[in-house]
Amino acid sequence: MSWRDRAACIGKPIDWFFPHGKNAPAQKARALALCSKCPVSAECLADAQSSCDGGIRGGVSLTPKHSTDVLEPKRCAMCMAAFMGSYRAKFCSDDCRNDARRESWVKAKQKARVA
Ligand code: SF4
Ligand SMILES: [Zn+2]
Repeated sequence: MSWRDRAACIGKPIDWFFPHGKNAPAQKARALALCSKCPVSAECLADAQSSCDGGIRGGVSLTPKHSTDVLEPKRCAMCMAAFMGSYRAKFCSDDCRNDARRESWVKAKQKARVA
């Protein structure tokens, strides 16, 4: 029997451990509460630190070594709304990303016209 068989998170939604979207704070809180009562949190954390694809493990929110998918509080560069996004994310939604693209496209056109 491996330590994984005693994990408190068996059968719990994976989303709790990879929080995303507007429910991220609630998901993260559930994961951390579970980890705090987990009998194998030390084993889990040690394993996570050697493999690490991010998420919440052993009561710690880990930054993935290879992935860009760690979420943090951000502010949209277009509409200024608060959102959770990866460290590369600049916009809260596809709409805002498209608006920003359209704007820079229009600006580029105007510049070309002036020149
Ligand atoms: S410490 Fe958290 S993530 Fe790790 S096995 Fe326990 S409940 Fe799951
Ligand atoms: Zn936005």
